[in-house]
Amino acid sequence: MSLRLKILLLTIGIVVFAVAGTARLIAKGMYERLVTESELRAVALIEGVALSVRDDLACERLDEIGKSLIQLRDPGSGRSDVIFTLILDGNGRAVGREVMPEYEQLLKSDFVRQATAASRELKTHVTFDGRDIVLVSIPVISSVPHIEGVRWGTVVGGMDIGRIEAAMFPLVRYAVGAALGFLLIGVFLLVLTLYRNLLSPINKLAEAASRFAAGDLQFRAPQGTADELGRLGATMNQMASDIEQHTRTLEDAVKARTRELEQANSRLHELAAMDELTGLGNRRTFTAALNREFRRARRDGSCISMLMLDVDHFKKYNDTHGHPAGDVALNKVGAILRNHLRVTDIPCRYGGEEFAVILCQTARDDGMRIADDIRRVVQQEVFFGEDRQPLGTFTVSIGVSTFPRDADDPDKLVDAADIALYQAKASGRNQVRGFEPGMTAKANLSN
Ligand code: GH3
Ligand code: MG
Ligand code: MG
Repeated sequence: MSLRLKILLLTIGIVVFAVAGTARLIAKGMYERLVTESELRAVALIEGVALSVRDDLACERLDEIGKSLIQLRDPGSGRSDVIFTLILDGNGRAVGREVMPEYEQLLKSDFVRQATAASRELKTHVTFDGRDIVLVSIPVISSVPHIEGVRWGTVVGGMDIGRIEAAMFPLVRYAVGAALGFLLIGVFLLVLTLYRNLLSPINKLAEAASRFAAGDLQFRAPQGTADELGRLGATMNQMASDIEQHTRTLEDAVKARTRELEQANSRLHELAAMDELTGLGNRRTFTAALNREFRRARRDGSCISMLMLDVDHFKKYNDTHGHPAGDVALNKVGAILRNHLRVTDIPCRYGGEEFAVILCQTARDDGMRIADDIRRVVQQEVFFGEDRQPLGTFTVSIGVSTFPRDADDPDKLVDAADIALYQAKASGRNQVRGFEPGMTAKANLSN
């Protein structure tokens, strides 16, 4: 059940309960008041009758008593609600009566018997034939000097007060109907006011809350009024823009951190792939590159030449000048390779004082020529203390192999270059040798 329906039903319930309760109280009060007034009127009427028949009773003028009673029957007398009048003499005998036929029975009631014996006014209520009736008796007592207190008779009367109730009901119904009408208009206005000032803003706040929850932080809750709901709307909007701001700051921070991480990561990859001393690719990079270039060469039908380069008498160089000087010399060889090769060639440090170079789309003759260029440049380059090397200068030996001429897979190509290198060493160093099918591995080296 919606909040709107609950408020409506509750309000209608309260109003109906209040109207019914109030109407009942008012009707009861009015009824009791009118009954009291009717009783007083009944007593006054019967007293009047008693007064008018007192002398006739004293003198036993029964005709006159009859006339007084007939006057009571006159509708213009305003006594039409007197349903019977009974006049008894001092001995309790009925000497006059005026009774509507349907109330004849009441003359034989206990009240009439008690009235003849009572020395004072009596009054009682009876329900007869579904009607409320008030019975009153007044004793007629002598006030003549010397015979004061002598009882001349009794007057008994009855009045129908049921008429009051009957007359009241349309009045009460009308009053209750009018009150209900006004109250329903009030309820309608109340519900309208509640809807416009409470339910409608609450619905809009609820919609704003669900939009915020769905991530739509640009949405704004209503905050037009200066009451609690307006303040709530303003607070929700503030909260949404704070969250939005916070989210943006977080997103920016995450983007910056991600960028830094990506940079660090790619630097890490570079470091993992690079030889620290020479800045060339390391052995892992060489192996991966050779496999990749093999795949490409097989696809394109092109050739690959590779150089295996080894520094001559490097142990001696280290022993003579120290390890740090050896490092500087290796770094210089790396720089020569980098500077004298094409951008498409891939020089790597294979390990120790050995370097491997992949020459993409290069046939054997070109590979041999490039290798010899490098050998010559190294020989011509000035190295610290090179004059103390066995050959009187700092040199390298290079073995060359070519795919598909010398090998059909990467490992065999490396082996072939290695064999050719050993041949270069064996031939006196500072040489370039190309692999030949008859060459054997591990040729005897001379110092
Ligand atoms: P060969 O002409 O037959 O190649 O003789 P060689 O002395 O160069 O060869 P050998 O294998 O006997 O010695 C290689 C030396 O290279 C031994 C080793 O200490 C040195 N070496 C290997 N890596 C490094 C390095 O990173 N820095 C320095 N300074 N020396 C290195
Ligand atoms: Mg070596
Ligand atoms: Mg060497």
